[in-house]
Amino acid sequence: MRNFEYARPADIAGALRLAADPGAQFIAGGTNLLDLMKGGVAQPHSLVDITQITALAQIHELPTGGVRIGALAANSDTALHPLIRERFPLLSRALLAGASPQLRNMASVGGNLLQRTRCGYFYDTAFDQCNKRLPGSGCAAIEGFNRNHAILGAGKSCIAIHPSDMSVALVALDAVVQLRSARGFRGVPLVDFQRLAGDTPQLDTNLGPGEMITAVDLPPNPWQAHSVYLKLRDRASFAFALVSVAAALDVREGVVQDARLVLGGVAHKPWPVPQAASLLRGLPDTQRFRDVAEAALQGAVPQRDNAFKIELGKRAIVRALSLAAFPQEA
Ligand code: SF4
Repeated sequence: MRNFEYARPADIAGALRLAADPGAQFIAGGTNLLDLMKGGVAQPHSLVDITQITALAQIHELPTGGVRIGALAANSDTALHPLIRERFPLLSRALLAGASPQLRNMASVGGNLLQRTRCGYFYDTAFDQCNKRLPGSGCAAIEGFNRNHAILGAGKSCIAIHPSDMSVALVALDAVVQLRSARGFRGVPLVDFQRLAGDTPQLDTNLGPGEMITAVDLPPNPWQAHSVYLKLRDRASFAFALVSVAAALDVREGVVQDARLVLGGVAHKPWPVPQAASLLRGLPDTQRFRDVAEAALQGAVPQRDNAFKIELGKRAIVRALSLAAFPQEA
Protein backbone atom coordinates (compact mmCIF):
# COMPACT_ATOMS: atom_id res chain seq x y z
CA MET A 1 0.00 0.00 0.00
CA ARG A 2 1.29 3.44 -0.95
CA ASN A 3 1.95 6.07 1.75
CA PHE A 4 -0.73 8.71 2.07
CA GLU A 5 -1.52 11.81 4.08
CA TYR A 6 -4.37 11.77 6.56
CA ALA A 7 -6.49 14.63 7.92
CA ARG A 8 -9.53 14.75 10.16
CA PRO A 9 -11.33 18.07 9.66
CA ALA A 10 -13.84 19.25 12.26
CA ASP A 11 -16.36 20.72 9.85
CA ILE A 12 -17.64 20.59 6.29
CA ALA A 13 -15.79 23.74 5.22
CA GLY A 14 -12.49 22.21 6.34
CA ALA A 15 -13.28 18.95 4.57
CA LEU A 16 -14.08 20.75 1.32
CA ARG A 17 -10.82 22.75 1.50
CA LEU A 18 -8.83 19.53 1.83
CA ALA A 19 -10.85 17.84 -0.93
CA ALA A 20 -9.81 20.54 -3.41
CA ASP A 21 -6.61 18.50 -3.84
CA PRO A 22 -7.36 16.22 -6.84
CA GLY A 23 -5.51 13.29 -5.19
CA ALA A 24 -7.65 13.46 -2.04
CA GLN A 25 -10.47 11.11 -1.18
CA PHE A 26 -13.05 11.23 1.58
CA ILE A 27 -13.19 8.32 4.00
CA ALA A 28 -15.88 7.47 6.57
CA GLY A 29 -16.34 3.81 7.61
CA GLY A 30 -13.71 2.67 5.11
CA THR A 31 -15.39 -0.71 4.60
CA ASN A 32 -14.77 -0.63 0.84
CA LEU A 33 -12.02 1.96 0.38
CA LEU A 34 -9.52 0.26 2.70
CA ASP A 35 -9.87 -3.01 0.77
CA LEU A 36 -9.28 -1.12 -2.46
CA MET A 37 -6.23 0.64 -1.04
CA LYS A 38 -4.71 -2.55 0.40
CA GLY A 39 -5.09 -4.22 -2.99
CA GLY A 40 -3.54 -1.28 -4.84
CA VAL A 41 -6.77 -0.58 -6.74
CA ALA A 42 -7.30 2.83 -5.12
CA GLN A 43 -4.22 4.98 -4.48
CA PRO A 44 -5.30 8.34 -3.01
CA HIS A 45 -2.37 10.43 -1.85
CA SER A 46 -4.45 11.90 0.95
CA LEU A 47 -7.48 10.77 2.94
CA VAL A 48 -9.96 13.25 4.37
CA ASP A 49 -11.60 11.50 7.31
CA ILE A 50 -15.05 13.05 7.85
CA THR A 51 -16.02 11.01 10.90
CA GLN A 52 -15.58 13.98 13.28
CA ILE A 53 -18.28 15.99 11.47
CA THR A 54 -21.06 14.65 13.65
CA ALA A 55 -23.72 16.88 12.07
CA LEU A 56 -23.48 14.60 9.04
CA ALA A 57 -24.60 11.60 11.08
CA GLN A 58 -28.05 12.93 11.96
CA ILE A 59 -31.38 11.58 10.77
CA HIS A 60 -34.29 13.98 11.07
CA GLU A 61 -37.69 14.89 9.72
CA LEU A 62 -37.98 17.55 6.99
CA PRO A 63 -40.70 20.24 6.99
CA THR A 64 -42.16 18.50 3.90
CA GLY A 65 -42.84 15.36 5.94
CA GLY A 66 -39.91 13.56 4.38
CA VAL A 67 -36.71 12.51 6.13
CA ARG A 68 -33.08 13.61 5.74
CA ILE A 69 -30.42 10.97 6.39
CA GLY A 70 -26.95 12.39 7.01
CA ALA A 71 -24.23 10.92 4.81
CA LEU A 72 -22.32 9.74 7.86
CA ALA A 73 -25.23 7.84 9.45
CA ALA A 74 -24.19 4.23 9.90
CA ASN A 75 -26.13 1.66 7.91
CA SER A 76 -27.19 -0.10 11.14
CA ASP A 77 -28.30 3.15 12.85
CA THR A 78 -30.27 4.09 9.75
CA ALA A 79 -31.97 0.71 9.45
CA LEU A 80 -33.04 0.79 13.11
CA HIS A 81 -33.98 4.48 13.39
CA PRO A 82 -37.69 4.87 14.31
CA LEU A 83 -38.37 7.32 11.45
CA ILE A 84 -36.93 4.88 8.92
CA ARG A 85 -38.56 1.77 10.38
CA GLU A 86 -41.99 3.38 10.55
CA ARG A 87 -42.06 5.44 7.36
CA PHE A 88 -39.55 3.70 5.11
CA PRO A 89 -39.56 0.00 6.07
CA LEU A 90 -38.41 -0.83 2.53
CA LEU A 91 -35.13 0.99 3.20
CA SER A 92 -34.75 -0.59 6.62
CA ARG A 93 -35.14 -4.09 5.14
CA ALA A 94 -32.72 -3.41 2.30
CA LEU A 95 -30.07 -2.15 4.70
CA LEU A 96 -30.45 -5.18 6.97
CA ALA A 97 -30.10 -7.46 3.93
CA GLY A 98 -26.64 -6.04 3.22
CA ALA A 99 -23.24 -7.23 4.46
CA SER A 100 -22.91 -8.34 8.11
CA PRO A 101 -23.77 -6.62 11.43
CA GLN A 102 -20.13 -5.59 11.94
CA LEU A 103 -19.91 -4.03 8.49
CA ARG A 104 -23.28 -2.32 8.83
CA ASN A 105 -22.03 -0.72 12.07
CA MET A 106 -19.09 0.82 10.21
CA ALA A 107 -20.48 1.53 6.75
CA SER A 108 -22.04 4.95 6.16
CA VAL A 109 -24.97 5.89 3.94
CA GLY A 110 -22.81 8.14 1.77
CA GLY A 111 -20.13 5.47 1.44
CA ASN A 112 -22.73 2.86 0.54
CA LEU A 113 -23.79 4.98 -2.44
CA LEU A 114 -20.18 5.24 -3.57
CA GLN A 115 -19.14 1.63 -3.05
CA ARG A 116 -17.53 0.03 -6.04
CA THR A 117 -18.43 -3.13 -7.89
CA ARG A 118 -17.37 -6.51 -6.51
CA CYS A 119 -16.20 -7.81 -9.91
CA GLY A 120 -13.22 -10.01 -9.05
CA TYR A 121 -11.18 -8.78 -12.01
CA PHE A 122 -11.49 -5.22 -10.73
CA TYR A 123 -9.99 -6.17 -7.35
CA ASP A 124 -7.27 -8.49 -8.66
CA THR A 125 -4.48 -6.35 -10.09
CA ALA A 126 -2.87 -9.50 -11.56
CA PHE A 127 -5.42 -9.08 -14.38
CA ASP A 128 -4.32 -6.42 -16.86
CA GLN A 129 -7.74 -6.10 -18.49
CA CYS A 130 -10.20 -4.00 -16.53
CA ASN A 131 -11.58 -0.82 -18.04
CA LYS A 132 -12.89 0.28 -14.67
CA ARG A 133 -9.44 0.05 -13.04
CA LEU A 134 -7.32 0.82 -16.13
CA PRO A 135 -9.42 2.68 -18.73
CA GLY A 136 -8.77 1.37 -22.24
CA SER A 137 -7.33 -1.98 -21.10
CA GLY A 138 -10.34 -4.17 -21.94
CA CYS A 139 -12.70 -6.24 -19.82
CA ALA A 140 -11.54 -9.62 -18.52
CA ALA A 141 -15.05 -10.51 -17.35
CA ILE A 142 -16.57 -10.58 -20.84
CA GLU A 143 -14.63 -13.75 -21.73
CA GLY A 144 -14.07 -14.77 -18.12
CA PHE A 145 -16.23 -15.92 -15.21
CA ASN A 146 -19.26 -13.67 -15.31
CA ARG A 147 -21.95 -15.41 -13.27
CA ASN A 148 -22.51 -12.35 -11.07
CA HIS A 149 -22.41 -9.76 -13.83
CA ALA A 150 -24.94 -7.57 -15.63
CA ILE A 151 -27.81 -8.66 -17.84
CA LEU A 152 -29.31 -5.20 -18.38
CA GLY A 153 -27.77 -1.98 -19.69
CA ALA A 154 -24.29 -3.42 -20.20
CA GLY A 155 -22.07 -2.45 -23.12
CA LYS A 156 -18.71 -3.71 -24.33
CA SER A 157 -16.59 -1.68 -21.92
CA CYS A 158 -17.76 -3.13 -18.58
CA ILE A 159 -20.38 -5.65 -17.50
CA ALA A 160 -20.06 -5.10 -13.76
CA ILE A 161 -23.02 -4.65 -11.43
CA HIS A 162 -23.61 -2.22 -8.59
CA PRO A 163 -23.49 -4.18 -5.32
CA SER A 164 -25.57 -1.97 -3.02
CA ASP A 165 -28.88 -3.16 -1.57
CA MET A 166 -29.57 0.24 -0.02
CA SER A 167 -29.38 2.05 -3.37
CA VAL A 168 -32.03 -0.21 -4.89
CA ALA A 169 -34.51 0.72 -2.16
CA LEU A 170 -33.55 4.41 -2.27
CA VAL A 171 -34.21 4.63 -6.01
CA ALA A 172 -37.65 3.07 -5.44
CA LEU A 173 -38.29 5.71 -2.76
CA ASP A 174 -37.35 8.62 -5.11
CA ALA A 175 -34.36 9.59 -2.96
CA VAL A 176 -32.41 12.75 -3.70
CA VAL A 177 -28.67 12.95 -2.97
CA GLN A 178 -27.57 16.25 -1.42
CA LEU A 179 -24.12 17.37 -2.56
CA ARG A 180 -21.88 20.19 -1.45
CA SER A 181 -18.66 21.63 -2.83
CA ALA A 182 -16.76 24.92 -2.82
CA ARG A 183 -19.05 25.89 -5.69
CA GLY A 184 -22.25 25.50 -3.64
CA PHE A 185 -25.07 23.00 -3.08
CA ARG A 186 -27.05 20.78 -5.41
CA GLY A 187 -29.56 17.94 -5.10
CA VAL A 188 -29.51 15.07 -7.59
CA PRO A 189 -32.14 12.30 -7.78
CA LEU A 190 -30.32 9.08 -6.97
CA VAL A 191 -31.58 7.52 -10.19
CA ASP A 192 -29.45 10.10 -12.03
CA PHE A 193 -26.51 10.06 -9.61
CA GLN A 194 -25.27 6.51 -10.30
CA ARG A 195 -24.25 5.78 -13.88
CA LEU A 196 -24.31 3.04 -16.47
CA ALA A 197 -20.81 2.06 -17.59
CA GLY A 198 -21.12 3.43 -21.15
CA ASP A 199 -17.72 4.51 -22.47
CA THR A 200 -16.54 5.65 -19.04
CA PRO A 201 -16.77 2.62 -16.75
CA GLN A 202 -14.17 4.16 -14.44
CA LEU A 203 -16.91 6.58 -13.30
CA ASP A 204 -19.59 5.01 -11.11
CA THR A 205 -21.40 8.24 -10.26
CA ASN A 206 -21.86 11.86 -11.33
CA LEU A 207 -20.08 13.18 -8.23
CA GLY A 208 -18.07 16.23 -9.31
CA PRO A 209 -14.44 17.02 -8.38
CA GLY A 210 -14.16 18.13 -4.77
CA GLU A 211 -17.84 17.40 -4.15
CA MET A 212 -19.06 15.57 -1.06
CA ILE A 213 -22.32 13.81 -0.25
CA THR A 214 -23.85 15.49 2.80
CA ALA A 215 -27.23 13.73 2.99
CA VAL A 216 -29.91 11.69 1.30
CA ASP A 217 -33.44 13.09 1.31
CA LEU A 218 -36.54 10.92 1.17
CA PRO A 219 -39.83 12.53 0.18
CA PRO A 220 -43.00 11.58 2.08
CA ASN A 221 -44.25 8.33 0.64
CA PRO A 222 -47.47 6.36 0.41
CA TRP A 223 -45.69 3.00 0.19
CA GLN A 224 -45.13 1.99 3.86
CA ALA A 225 -47.79 -0.73 4.09
CA HIS A 226 -47.08 -2.30 0.72
CA SER A 227 -43.33 -2.40 0.17
CA VAL A 228 -40.90 -5.29 -0.03
CA TYR A 229 -37.19 -5.78 -0.54
CA LEU A 230 -36.49 -9.28 -1.81
CA LYS A 231 -32.87 -10.36 -2.14
CA LEU A 232 -31.84 -13.63 -3.76
CA ARG A 233 -28.25 -14.74 -3.17
CA ASP A 234 -26.05 -17.80 -2.91
CA ARG A 235 -26.18 -17.93 0.90
CA ALA A 236 -28.50 -16.41 3.46
CA SER A 237 -26.04 -13.89 4.90
CA PHE A 238 -23.01 -11.82 3.90
CA ALA A 239 -23.47 -12.32 0.17
CA PHE A 240 -24.22 -9.88 -2.63
CA ALA A 241 -27.46 -10.17 -4.56
CA LEU A 242 -27.73 -12.34 -7.65
CA VAL A 243 -31.00 -10.50 -8.16
CA SER A 244 -32.88 -8.20 -5.82
CA VAL A 245 -36.20 -6.42 -6.11
CA ALA A 246 -37.53 -3.32 -4.39
CA ALA A 247 -41.30 -3.25 -4.90
CA ALA A 248 -43.57 -0.54 -3.52
CA LEU A 249 -47.27 -0.09 -4.15
CA ASP A 250 -49.61 2.73 -3.28
CA VAL A 251 -52.79 0.74 -2.54
CA ARG A 252 -56.01 2.48 -1.55
CA GLU A 253 -59.21 0.52 -0.89
CA GLY A 254 -57.65 -2.51 -2.53
CA VAL A 255 -56.73 -0.69 -5.75
CA VAL A 256 -53.15 0.04 -6.87
CA GLN A 257 -52.83 3.77 -7.60
CA ASP A 258 -49.13 3.91 -8.26
CA ALA A 259 -46.08 1.65 -8.10
CA ARG A 260 -42.30 1.60 -7.99
CA LEU A 261 -40.20 -1.36 -9.03
CA VAL A 262 -36.39 -1.39 -9.05
CA LEU A 263 -34.01 -4.29 -9.66
CA GLY A 264 -30.59 -4.84 -8.11
CA GLY A 265 -27.78 -7.22 -9.06
CA VAL A 266 -28.55 -6.94 -12.76
CA ALA A 267 -26.94 -3.71 -13.99
CA HIS A 268 -24.20 -1.15 -13.36
CA LYS A 269 -26.72 0.84 -11.30
CA PRO A 270 -30.09 0.07 -9.70
CA TRP A 271 -32.44 -0.68 -12.58
CA PRO A 272 -35.87 0.99 -12.42
CA VAL A 273 -38.78 -0.57 -14.27
CA PRO A 274 -40.77 2.50 -15.38
CA GLN A 275 -43.55 0.44 -16.99
CA ALA A 276 -44.48 -0.94 -13.57
CA ALA A 277 -46.70 2.01 -12.60
CA SER A 278 -48.98 1.83 -15.66
CA LEU A 279 -49.06 -1.99 -15.78
CA LEU A 280 -49.94 -2.37 -12.11
CA ARG A 281 -52.62 0.29 -11.76
CA GLY A 282 -55.94 -1.30 -10.81
CA LEU A 283 -56.79 -4.44 -8.88
CA PRO A 284 -53.62 -6.39 -8.04
CA ASP A 285 -53.43 -9.87 -9.56
CA THR A 286 -50.77 -12.38 -10.44
CA GLN A 287 -51.21 -12.04 -14.20
CA ARG A 288 -50.39 -8.34 -13.97
CA PHE A 289 -47.31 -9.21 -11.91
CA ARG A 290 -46.19 -11.66 -14.62
CA ASP A 291 -46.73 -9.01 -17.31
CA VAL A 292 -44.55 -6.59 -15.37
CA ALA A 293 -41.87 -9.25 -14.93
CA GLU A 294 -41.81 -9.97 -18.68
CA ALA A 295 -41.62 -6.25 -19.47
CA ALA A 296 -38.85 -5.68 -16.93
CA LEU A 297 -36.56 -8.35 -18.37
CA GLN A 298 -37.48 -7.87 -22.01
CA GLY A 299 -34.18 -6.25 -23.02
CA ALA A 300 -31.99 -8.55 -20.93
CA VAL A 301 -28.82 -9.88 -22.57
CA PRO A 302 -27.13 -12.64 -20.59
CA GLN A 303 -23.40 -13.21 -20.28
CA ARG A 304 -22.00 -16.71 -20.77
CA ASP A 305 -22.54 -17.79 -17.13
CA ASN A 306 -25.62 -15.91 -16.00
CA ALA A 307 -28.62 -16.60 -18.26
CA PHE A 308 -30.31 -17.98 -15.12
CA LYS A 309 -30.66 -14.42 -13.85
CA ILE A 310 -33.37 -13.67 -16.40
CA GLU A 311 -35.81 -16.29 -15.14
CA LEU A 312 -34.70 -15.68 -11.55
CA GLY A 313 -35.42 -11.97 -12.01
CA LYS A 314 -38.90 -12.63 -13.38
CA ARG A 315 -39.80 -14.96 -10.55
CA ALA A 316 -38.38 -12.55 -7.97
CA ILE A 317 -40.52 -9.73 -9.36
CA VAL A 318 -43.71 -11.80 -9.20
CA ARG A 319 -42.86 -12.88 -5.66
CA ALA A 320 -41.99 -9.38 -4.47
CA LEU A 321 -45.12 -7.84 -5.98
CA SER A 322 -47.28 -10.58 -4.45
CA LEU A 323 -45.75 -9.94 -1.01
CA ALA A 324 -46.20 -6.18 -1.42
CA ALA A 325 -49.80 -6.40 -2.61
CA PHE A 326 -50.96 -9.00 -0.12
CA PRO A 327 -48.77 -8.56 3.00
CA GLN A 328 -51.29 -10.41 5.16
CA GLU A 329 -50.53 -13.57 3.16
CA ALA A 330 -46.76 -13.29 3.57
FE1 SF4 B 1 -13.37 -4.46 -15.00
FE2 SF4 B 1 -15.95 -3.97 -15.39
FE3 SF4 B 1 -14.79 -5.80 -16.85
FE4 SF4 B 1 -15.13 -6.23 -14.24
S1 SF4 B 1 -16.73 -6.05 -15.72
S2 SF4 B 1 -13.29 -6.64 -15.46
S3 SF4 B 1 -14.95 -4.15 -13.43
S4 SF4 B 1 -14.29 -3.63 -16.85
